Amino acid sequence: MFNCRANEDATLAEKILLVTFMITTISTDILQAEAILRSGGVVAIPTETVYGLAANALDAKAVTSIFEIKERPFFDPLIVHTASLERARAFVDHIPDWAEELFAMFSPGPMTIILKKRSIIPDIVTSGLETVGIRIPNHALTLSLLNNLDFPLSAPSANPFMYVSPTSSEHVNKQLGGKIPYILDGGSCNVGVESTIIAEIDGKPSILRLGGLPIEDIERVIGSISFHKNSLSKPISPGMLESHYSPRKKVILGRPAQGVGENKRIGYIGFEFPVDGIPIHHQRILSSTGALAEAARNVFGALRELDSLDIELIYAELVPELGLGRAINDRLKRAAA
Ligand code: AMP
Ligand code: MG
Repeated sequence: MFNCRANEDATLAEKILLVTFMITTISTDILQAEAILRSGGVVAIPTETVYGLAANALDAKAVTSIFEIKERPFFDPLIVHTASLERARAFVDHIPDWAEELFAMFSPGPMTIILKKRSIIPDIVTSGLETVGIRIPNHALTLSLLNNLDFPLSAPSANPFMYVSPTSSEHVNKQLGGKIPYILDGGSCNVGVESTIIAEIDGKPSILRLGGLPIEDIERVIGSISFHKNSLSKPISPGMLESHYSPRKKVILGRPAQGVGENKRIGYIGFEFPVDGIPIHHQRILSSTGALAEAARNVFGALRELDSLDIELIYAELVPELGLGRAINDRLKRAAA
């Protein structure tokens, strides 16, 4: 990072360049990440779902920087990441039995539970809501980092607002390189889609966002759970906005009709098999063995890769609507919305 205080004589243009451009280090050294986070800075961190853009969740000023870097509207609340359920108890008022059971079974893991917050969590984190999303991520580097820090981390996905989420340090660097000092490199994300968000609505647990923990797994522990359909005028969870996770290219769901592929500027995302008539380097197959976990790991990378090609349109075929397939289809539908 450049030191701006040494440049008091700089012209305005030079000052703007100095504050907006910084050198981004990509490394596996958690001590460097800790030092930046302790001084109120922002660091990209790996998790099993997607990469997060993290800052001290108890420091309102540090959290403000996350919103600025992401260009995320302040009405979209952030999830708080912590190392264990024991630590989480300091941030929330009460944990209902169903949530205790889910934490016991699935943490660390790709699950976020919305709970009533204590005042120690600044309002900016929760966009003024009385609740906070708590998550214990399942990634060795980030768990060590969280264990070493004496504060939790607020972390939305490390991408500009509304764009496809990053599942590798290269994805983060491509868009946020020069804007953040450090990317903690934890390799490719193992799950590849965001956490499943669960909240209590009308006294019952409900799913707010489909994600890396399949509904079927949740139901095996706490019984049947409803999916709370979002009302667009007042989304409970902005991650449920109809259009989100969107590449710049137009996305159309389904296979291209016969002959459409004559136009060579078309891309295709398929589940198991490529289609005829579209150049093979314009196609991405999510899992040639039909494995939904592999497809989830690949879906955001496929959208990003095709978005960077010189094509006009991306056709994307939905995958089987079960297990992780529900979250994959949810992201594809919203990329197409
Ligand atoms: P992101 O980290 O960008 O995937 O976004 C996190 C998602 O969690 C957003 O859609 C938030 O709206 C949602 N979220 C975070 N805190 C809350 C909360 N207190 N109530 C409802 N949704 C929340
Ligand atoms: Mg996001």
